[in-house]
Formats: sequence, structure tokens, C-alpha cells
Amino acid sequence: MKTFTEISPMRDWCRARQSEGQTVGIVPTMGALHEGHLSLVRRGKSICDLCVATIFVNPTQFAPGEDLSRYPRPLDRDLEMLRGEGIDAVFLPTDEIMYPEGFGTYVTVPPVGMSLEGASRPEHFRGVTTVVNKFFQIIPADSAFFGQKDYQQLRVVEHMVRDLNIATEIVPCDIVREHDGLAMSSRNRYLSDDERKIALSLSRSLATAAEMCDSGETRVAMLEQAMRSELTACTKLDYAVVVDADTLEPIEVVDCRAVALVAAHVGTTRLIDNRIL
Ligand code: AMP
Repeated sequence: MKTFTEISPMRDWCRARQSEGQTVGIVPTMGALHEGHLSLVRRGKSICDLCVATIFVNPTQFAPGEDLSRYPRPLDRDLEMLRGEGIDAVFLPTDEIMYPEGFGTYVTVPPVGMSLEGASRPEHFRGVTTVVNKFFQIIPADSAFFGQKDYQQLRVVEHMVRDLNIATEIVPCDIVREHDGLAMSSRNRYLSDDERKIALSLSRSLATAAEMCDSGETRVAMLEQAMRSELTACTKLDYAVVVDADTLEPIEVVDCRAVALVAAHVGTTRLIDNRIL
């Protein structure tokens, strides 16, 4: 497993492997890895000849007051987990390497990123589009693996790749959950035992919406009301919605592919989850 902290050696390695005829996959992460991240690595290895993970807690996607400074950084454990998966290379840049003195160019967020997370966290997606674009310049991978756990982020990245003619193919990967349904997240480790129980209400609210939909309820207002009633123990609800799965535009009835999305604070931890209906 090769590790790179500098840009040029990372890019040279990727280009050299591709010039030998090998395909390269990239799995961008912020570290504090869990089975969700590892499922992306496994998918990457199954599709591409070589797989690179990036570990970078990207400061530009955190607003002041969010959890940037307390975000977990168990680097040795992360590297051990990636080695265990047989990953070929890891890119571990510092903030200074990614955002040197004088940095000032950002990627504008496409319309699909304006609502929901974009509304709750106004600077977030601009940081995501910018850092993902930078990764694609540094590691011009054939394929990039993103989790549906961050559903709107996946759509934003897909739109960016389409709009900017980026050659990397985006591969969506299923959400990995704990045995009781909680979507795996690096932020779950912030939860106390009591909060962990309340956090389960997110996946439960999505299951309720899915069950109602399966039983023939198509009115979005009814589905959203049922979701909200599952989420009353959360400290703060940012949104619980059913929207068009492609555009993330509001809908009144489920007559197209729809997705239920929820974002809520449990204690001081902000959690998100979603489910295709
Ligand atoms: P993060 O480290 O939170 O930035 O996530 C890195 C990548 O892992 C993103 O593409 C996430 O969508 C994906 N990911 C995070 N949690 C999960 C999960 N529970 N299942 C599948 N993918 C996930």
C-alpha cells in the first residue's frame, strides 16, 4: 500500500499505472473509516484494477461552529483497515497542500445542491464540489465511488461531472447499516447510549414512509407527517421530506422515482439518512 502526501507523486503514480493499461478507482473519504467506507473500497476493487482512497477532512465543507475541530482522525487505524482491504494507494494531503496560501477558486454548486443540505448548510456543497474536483485533477481516476448515504452529495457530484465534462465515471454505492438499521457514519461515535437509541428514529421514519408507500399511500404530505411523528425525540429536525429522486424537487404525490430524506440533530450530533421509495 503506497501512501502519498504530495500532489505530483500521487498524480504521477496514477498516470503511470493508467499508461500501463490499468484502470484506477478513487474512494474519497474524510477518514474515521467504517464498513460503509470499506464497502466502497470493495466495490472499487471489483470494478477497477487498482484502487486509491483519499483521507482528508476538508475544511471548506465545514461552516464555522460545525464539528471540523472535533472530527475524529484515527489515522493509524484507518490505514490498517485500508491495508486489510488490499487497497493500492492512499492520498493523505495536509490542509496546506490542498489549500495553499493564495487559494481562491471554488466550483459553483449545481441547482440540485441548493435545497435540503444546501439550505441547512449553505457553504457545505461548495466545499464538496471544490475538493472533489481537486481530487479528480490530482488523481484522474477512471471511476469514483460514492455512497448513497450522502444522497444529495452524490447527485451534486454527478451533475458537476456532467456539467464540467469530467472523464471520471461516478459509481453510486448502497448504504451500509448497523444491524438495527442505523446508517453507518463516522459521526455515530459522538452519540451517547441514549442518543444512539434516539438516532434509530431516522431509519425508522424512512421505513415508515416506505411501508406506507408500499401499502398504496402516495400523498407526500401524509408520508412526511408520518416521518416527522417518528422524529419527535430528536433535538432538532432540519428536514424530513419526500422528493423527486433525480432532481430533489418537491412533489405532491409519489408518481415517479422518489426518495425520502431526513436530517436531524441528536444532542449535538447532526445525522442524515435516506431511502429510495
Ligand atoms: P465521508 O468520510 O463521510 O466523507 O464519506 C466518504 C464516502 O463514504 C462518501 O461517498 C459517503 O457517502 C460514503 N459513506 C459514508 N457512510 C456510508 C454508509 N453507511 N454506507 C455507504 N457509504 C457510506
